[in-house]
Amino acid sequence: MAAAPKVGFVSLGCPKALVDSEGILTRLRAEGYAISPSYDRADLVVVNTCGFIESAMQESLDAIGEALEENGRVIVTGCLGAKGDVVRRTHPKVLAVTGPHALEEVMTAVHEHLPKPHDPFTDLVPPQGIKLTPRHYAYLKISEGCNHRCTFCIIPSLRGDLVSRPIGEVMREAENLVKAGVKELLVVSQDTSAYGVDLKYRTGFWGGRPLKARMADLTAALGELGVWVRLHYVYPYPHVDEVIPLMAEGKVLPYIDVPFQHASPRILKLMKRPASGEDNLARIRAWRTICPDVTIRSTFIAGFPGETEDEFRELLDFLEAAELDRVGCFAYSPVQGAKANELPGALSNEVREERRERLMHLQEKISARRLKRKLGKTIKVLVDELKAGGAVGRSAADAPEIDGVVHIEDGPKLKPGDWTQVKVTRSDAHDLWASEPAGHRRAA
Ligand code: SF4
Repeated sequence: MAAAPKVGFVSLGCPKALVDSEGILTRLRAEGYAISPSYDRADLVVVNTCGFIESAMQESLDAIGEALEENGRVIVTGCLGAKGDVVRRTHPKVLAVTGPHALEEVMTAVHEHLPKPHDPFTDLVPPQGIKLTPRHYAYLKISEGCNHRCTFCIIPSLRGDLVSRPIGEVMREAENLVKAGVKELLVVSQDTSAYGVDLKYRTGFWGGRPLKARMADLTAALGELGVWVRLHYVYPYPHVDEVIPLMAEGKVLPYIDVPFQHASPRILKLMKRPASGEDNLARIRAWRTICPDVTIRSTFIAGFPGETEDEFRELLDFLEAAELDRVGCFAYSPVQGAKANELPGALSNEVREERRERLMHLQEKISARRLKRKLGKTIKVLVDELKAGGAVGRSAADAPEIDGVVHIEDGPKLKPGDWTQVKVTRSDAHDLWASEPAGHRRAA
């Protein structure tokens, strides 16, 4: 294994700055960096500065100068960094400057100038750790890497084959997040339906109870935690059908994010998509029979090499028939190193973009139609943020960042992280508008 990259650290200033330093050092160590006791053995140096009084500023500037002279690669953080451009004016060669209490910015600068080597074991948690901001939802990464070789994707060559986290470890993390106030767990991976394949579905333990490392077992166990559980990146394999009853029973959110990517069997084959031979339309209909309220989200690629107009229309026909709730679409982009770039029949940028626009135009109509059906219904919403006179939240049908939102109008004061029941009054192609019924009591 390659030696860990080494970071030198200079900590100046008051106890608050010291706590910031501890936070940065903790994160550096957690991510696998070594801390170097000397300038000359470090790959770069972080200087946490003080800007309280003139002498402290001078001391900080001197420390930066010394680190530059001895090492040459310096990231500056702390109070002096917040004081205009004094650092850059005095030491133009510093790599980056942030203000105090800027853990994420410091780590971003470190990652940019000293990337950490890939380690399939330590990288099982997301690079930024589990996000507790906003505090009421968190991503739960259940595996890293992917065993598929989709021809448009280079993720397996970057992240390696599938490495699933032991089920007991995933459940303990989920439980800790819920204890910390998380109301919604978003299950993510490259291929959620493949969870546990590499472990041969090994039995693990959670609270002394045996659990198999299988997607359905994990989903059922997460459903016992009493919070919203949302599944992302699920491929339409037959065993996925097992989680739909859990959605119908209200154990986990009736929401499934399935990246279909295309509908033409020939294009899916060229893409080497997992489950390309499945009858996706039949599967969607079966899911909706078991769980009529299920929200289905998907992503597609328009203008794949060799895609004919007829094959593209097949995709549009699929969208009409499938009536998916949420859809994202990318114009095919030839990522460097992707096998699909070698396929014959590359389409021009204009054709790819034009097809993407046609697809999104059609989907807007479908989405508006589906959202309209919710008018007059009472739905449960998790509040994300406040705004003048109301709040913005999400229903079971809305994942953060990628889907629409519910605008809650003229409600009494809500807090981020509150669950509330609202009555839908208006809709467009993406969002809903709703009000809290008078006298309604909400759960925190
Ligand atoms: S697009 Fe295909 S190869 Fe890439 S991560 Fe997803 S399943 Fe794996």
